[in-house]
Amino acid sequence: MLLGVIADDLTGATDVALMLAREGMRVVQTVGVPASAEALPDADAVVVSMKSRTNPAAEAVEWSLAACDALIGAGAKQILFKYCSTFDSTDDGNIGPVAEALMKRLGARFTVACPAFPANGRSVFQGHLFVGAVLLSDSPMKDHPLTPMRDSNLVRVLARQTKLPVGLVPFATVEKGPAAVRAAFEDIAKDGPAMAVADAVTDAQLRVLGEAFDGLPLLTGGSGIALGLPENFRRAGLLGPKSASRAFQAPKGKTAVLAGSCSAATRGQVADAVSKGVPAFALDPVAIAEKRMTAASVLDWALPKLGDMPVLVYSTAEPEAVREVQERFGRDASGAMIEHLLGEVAQGLAAAGVTRLVVAGGETSGAVVGALGVSMLEIGPEIDPGVPWTLAADGKRIALALKSGNFGTPDFFTKALKMLG
Ligand code: ADP
Repeated sequence: MLLGVIADDLTGATDVALMLAREGMRVVQTVGVPASAEALPDADAVVVSMKSRTNPAAEAVEWSLAACDALIGAGAKQILFKYCSTFDSTDDGNIGPVAEALMKRLGARFTVACPAFPANGRSVFQGHLFVGAVLLSDSPMKDHPLTPMRDSNLVRVLARQTKLPVGLVPFATVEKGPAAVRAAFEDIAKDGPAMAVADAVTDAQLRVLGEAFDGLPLLTGGSGIALGLPENFRRAGLLGPKSASRAFQAPKGKTAVLAGSCSAATRGQVADAVSKGVPAFALDPVAIAEKRMTAASVLDWALPKLGDMPVLVYSTAEPEAVREVQERFGRDASGAMIEHLLGEVAQGLAAAGVTRLVVAGGETSGAVVGALGVSMLEIGPEIDPGVPWTLAADGKRIALALKSGNFGTPDFFTKALKMLG
């Protein structure tokens, strides 16, 4: 193994796995922390996906360290801690605490934080994160149900999450090339362990950063940060040339879409599918809390409709409706309640012959894959930037498109299913 990746959610893990596969690495994604190094598959890069983004920081740290130990035990030469390209976190963590703990475990004096992902409109300039043309704090992320992001200055955001000093490698330095970036890293850590946010607005800059990352024990960032890493291993003679990707064969069967994301992109995708006549069932959080709506009642609606068309089950709602539900039942409890129900619905759909399932939402995908008991994923073709089809690689007969809430074009659901033929 060359690269070990620890991802704080499932769709983020798939996103970075796709990036590495496209750059010519053999990649396998595991679901959950492996019991030991021996439990890991043979691959150039192994992406361990957790569901730790919104857990208590201590738990996220414990799981990340266990994943790190397994990856290093299996031979990983470098560790990448992958989080969302919108830096999803709170002042309690989990990006800062996990990065700090991994630095200590790996004996790293320095690490970098860079969520830039230009292909998906995430760019970092002077330490400020932009989503498309607007600052993070003006983007729909300000209303995220679990990790509302209301400060765009990542140096400030990260500094609230760690005791280590947080510096900045600005755009102008990145433009000067890998040697200048490496000199900046050394300067930032000259008085002791430190972290730095790195600017990147283009893929070319991510490749410059990638080259500068050669030999660093630990990196942290979005999937864009992985863009230039395979080339370092190739230059060192450890990785062969890029070759054509393997054929991807999704098992034949019925299709369904589960949406538990309330992100702006998902709201548009749900509306698009509904307007196209996809049979759709809107979950009602109040009815779920009062047990008037259960997985059984949702399946009663869905199962007779399974056929040539997909069915769509969604809890996707506007920010105002989400706020009302959260005020009534609590933020985490409402999230967990809906995730649990969608997990049960996924089980029922799979048992009824659904073998092609699209899931919208990072946390939601974690819950669904957990409920299905899928433990390993093979990465397939890209549907939209950051979202590939995946295939259960543990004997289960199911193809899964796991979409981070804010990713994908409006027609994502129908397009993804059409792609499989
Ligand atoms: P994203 O990828 O868009 O962040 P996630 O699935 O990660 O989506 O997170 C969305 C969270 O919001 C989940 O915990 C989900 O259960 C919760 N949620 C979904 N719909 C609603 C709703 N109508 N009201 C309150 N919370 C909701």
